[in-house]
Amino acid sequence: MIGLISATAAGAAARDRLAAAWPERTRVYEGPVGDAVRAAFGECEQLVCFLATGAVVRLVAPLLGDKVSDPGVVCVDEGGRFAVSLVGGHGGGANELAREVGELLGAEPVVTTATDSVGMAGLDTLGLPVEGDVAAVSRALLDGEPVALRVESAWPLPALPVVADGSYTVRVTDRAVQPAAHEVVLRPPSLVVGVGASKGAPVDEVLALIEDALREAGLSPRSIAELATIDAKAEEPGIVAAAERLGVPLVTHSAERLAAVTVPNPSDAPLAAVGTPSVAEASALISCGELVVPKRKSAMATCAVVRRPARGRLAVVGLGPGARDLLTPRAKAELRRASVLVGLDQYVDQIRDLLRPGTRILQSGLGAEEERARTAVEEARKGQAVALIGSGDAGVYAMASPALAEASDDIDVVGVPGVTAALAAGAILGAPLGHDHVSISLSDLHTPWEVIERRVRAAAEADIVVTFYNPRSRGRDWQLPKALAILAEHRAPTTPVGVVRNASRPDESSRLTTLTALDPATVDMMTVVTVGNTATREIAGRMVTPRGYRWQQEEAR
Ligand code: SAH
Repeated sequence: MIGLISATAAGAAARDRLAAAWPERTRVYEGPVGDAVRAAFGECEQLVCFLATGAVVRLVAPLLGDKVSDPGVVCVDEGGRFAVSLVGGHGGGANELAREVGELLGAEPVVTTATDSVGMAGLDTLGLPVEGDVAAVSRALLDGEPVALRVESAWPLPALPVVADGSYTVRVTDRAVQPAAHEVVLRPPSLVVGVGASKGAPVDEVLALIEDALREAGLSPRSIAELATIDAKAEEPGIVAAAERLGVPLVTHSAERLAAVTVPNPSDAPLAAVGTPSVAEASALISCGELVVPKRKSAMATCAVVRRPARGRLAVVGLGPGARDLLTPRAKAELRRASVLVGLDQYVDQIRDLLRPGTRILQSGLGAEEERARTAVEEARKGQAVALIGSGDAGVYAMASPALAEASDDIDVVGVPGVTAALAAGAILGAPLGHDHVSISLSDLHTPWEVIERRVRAAAEADIVVTFYNPRSRGRDWQLPKALAILAEHRAPTTPVGVVRNASRPDESSRLTTLTALDPATVDMMTVVTVGNTATREIAGRMVTPRGYRWQQEEAR
């Protein structure tokens, strides 16, 4: 919950805008501001104070505990010009909140934590538990001091600007090591703890068994990803409470699945009770990792620990047609989440400034599609966070399908949609896609012309609006006239045709013409061509495909 506190009429007005925009997320605190701030500080995860920073500093100072548990506090000035992230920039999410509030109120977000202001991943914002001297190592990263990365358990981290050797270290490990001086230890969620318990096993016994197992194996409880057990024990109070206290999810598996896992220490007791010769070892080994603690027992519980292999992350990101403001915020976030970027050199240039320092860039020239797809998947399988980029939407005549054809289920795949050329062009032309439409690529490099022609003919017969991608290049000049001739067999010579070149790029141009008047020589590979259906009209210089008379009638009813 976000607590909202204001003192003046202007503050209350801005406060009410926030409350109206986020009714589920916010609560308004009325009354004297001192009492309101104290109450909200105790009850909310975040505060937005429409008060001077000085006033808020004095009010919250006595309440501050530590940056992990304190709420994030944002101040908005009387004029509504600035949203200042005051405390809890990372842990309390105040930096992000300042940006959101800024966006909503039209205020400039003010963020002063160093890692954010230079666009670097804060070591405490990576989503992994972190130990050690975060402040010193972050400062070293910022100052460009040599910081070494020691990865003992691979994990798909965002880029960190690190070197092979240095006096500061970022260490990624699930082993129970104490961070040295000038060292930060990141805890990847690499351990799966399988547990079994008899009915009524006390939580303290289950927890003690797990903690002993990890301690003897030299592993950190902060790297536990999940507890795993059999479906039949999904509600067993001791197991449920152990997962809760460790702050990890409890995952359960069926007896059949567990029985199919080969384990080193099967036994007859669980076989008789729940139908599988192993609960603890089998539940842990389902994650396909290496058994680091074989089954051990207490009076009423069993546990086993597996280290699972890192799951790499492949984000397939559409960059949109060109203009920066048509790149979605989600695409931007994924580019900053990656440590490896794979793409065509001209697209890499388009977004290079968005990448975090230290991002490894694997760029290649036109044509090397399959190699790019393979590279991206290979990097992800090594446990990296990879972004594979494409213009427009990366799934439309682009990299998503060759990449996913290569990918196995041992990596996570995240798709980010982008504004594809047909949509960018449609918005420039007017509303050509107002009714059914298709896209057809005229490139016969990978598709036989007969197939393309059959599809053009089907679209022509079905009276569907058609957008041609890859319409014409120096070596491919007869396909577009041929396709237009097929459409002309079913559409009037005056059918509107929109030609858009470099949509949303600096040298954008567009033309509205007709089926017979279109000069194919004006079309190249930077162009899409949208041909209307028999209902499409030019209205006030814009291309409009009506949604249909019947629909308008229904609407009126
Ligand atoms: N994935 C891309 C399409 C790749 S195919 C997308 O979703 O947009 C390449 C073809 O897309 C080009 O030959 C051209 O026809 C079209 N194209 C891509 N970007 C364009 C733009 N900004 N303006 C006009 N056409 C574009």
